[in-house]
Amino acid sequence: MSYVTLLRRKGVEYRIVSTTLRSIANVYQAAGVAITDDQGQHSKTQMQVAGMKIISEAAASSASDIHIRIDRSGTDILYRIHGELEKAHERDHEYGKKLVRYYYQAMADVSEETFKENIRLDARIGDTSKLPPGLNGIRIAASPTAEATVMVLRLLYNDALDSHDPCDLGFSTAHKFLFEHMQEQPIGLNIISGPTGSGKSTTLQRLLRAYISETQGRKHVLTVEDPPEYPIIGAVQTPVGNATSQREREEMFIAAINAAMRLDPDTIMIGELRDKPSAELALRAATTGHQVWTTLHANSALGIADRMINIGIEPDMLLDHTVLTGLISQRLVKKLCPNCKQPLRDHLNKMPSRTLERIQRALGSDWIDVFITGDGCEQCNHRGSIGRTVCAEIVIPDPMLCEYLRRGERVLARKHWLQEQQGQSIVHHAIEKVKSGEVDPMMAERVVGSLHMAELLYDNMVTVGEVVGDKF
Ligand SMILES: [Zn+2]
Repeated sequence: MSYVTLLRRKGVEYRIVSTTLRSIANVYQAAGVAITDDQGQHSKTQMQVAGMKIISEAAASSASDIHIRIDRSGTDILYRIHGELEKAHERDHEYGKKLVRYYYQAMADVSEETFKENIRLDARIGDTSKLPPGLNGIRIAASPTAEATVMVLRLLYNDALDSHDPCDLGFSTAHKFLFEHMQEQPIGLNIISGPTGSGKSTTLQRLLRAYISETQGRKHVLTVEDPPEYPIIGAVQTPVGNATSQREREEMFIAAINAAMRLDPDTIMIGELRDKPSAELALRAATTGHQVWTTLHANSALGIADRMINIGIEPDMLLDHTVLTGLISQRLVKKLCPNCKQPLRDHLNKMPSRTLERIQRALGSDWIDVFITGDGCEQCNHRGSIGRTVCAEIVIPDPMLCEYLRRGERVLARKHWLQEQQGQSIVHHAIEKVKSGEVDPMMAERVVGSLHMAELLYDNMVTVGEVVGDKF
């Protein structure tokens, strides 16, 4: 208040408005005055305390990432919680610079100890004694931006004690049986797809842990990861090694898969198929008597086959039901807080009328049981949601499906999967979760697309498929 008293004494006219640190910094900057928090005193010890506090705070809210965005006028610190960014702190420019330097220089396992603002950097904090309990490591990526620097810290949680049951991640009982079927096959390639952050690595690790515990150490499970992120007890995890360039990294990845195949494995997990050489090796591992599990970027389960062919894999080699044994596609959708979710029928005004119409058409009379996000409560930290759940589709290729895919008959392949194999599309899985009140229909649509359009598309596809089918 002393500043206000001073203004009053001097007879200056003023009004009080609330603003952000960032706007104040902009005003000072425009006037050519430099400002910092705490009179510029960001000492090393202070940064250590602040840096640890940020990590602990983010981990306590189960954040998947911490973003530190520095620009000329300040620093924003954001946490990604349940897939969405939330602003946690706003600091000045100098603070941000010292914070990223602290994470890189004092915490990460790096050989190059100086943080350089003008180049892209990757690092890892692997020393768990430096981290709060529950965290197994942190992966750091930093890049220069037009104005300064952005650093993203991916928090790697230790979930070794979590359940092995895929249903706990959100898969259905039918999905679980399909996974068991895949795991019973001594050979074959199983591929999980989804965009970044769709939980495919978590699924992969849970499945491997379940397999190891069921086979009680009688199977040799090898992983090739760049780098291994979570400990998998009972598996031999081989790191790819430190590469200095993208090309070297790819070569080392291939060398690591080759080396793994010589180590007499029963099951091989390859972190991710990125290019033709790694995809070819995964396929070769499957055709030479191994069970292979891996991930790939593709839009749908059947789209995995297309993606593999686009990468450069021979369709005749791939599209054999004894080789390609499982195609999985998954996304993560926010799970409604059971304590504060609201019945849609009592809050029709909360949904745009066109959306409501679409939901009613997609769900039929079941729309009456739908719940939507509430106003938030203590139990969900006022977010309205409690974590995320998997929506997925799984295809087990059979001879007919492979035949359709070889002929490029995608519509017939899809029809065969949905009708003959009683497959369930990811949209139908999402609709089930909406019907049971677990998921908000608007949240589901944001992730899997229109619930109603998918139904229409499927009907159209069946019609088109039948017309095409008459030709042979
Ligand atoms: Zn709540």
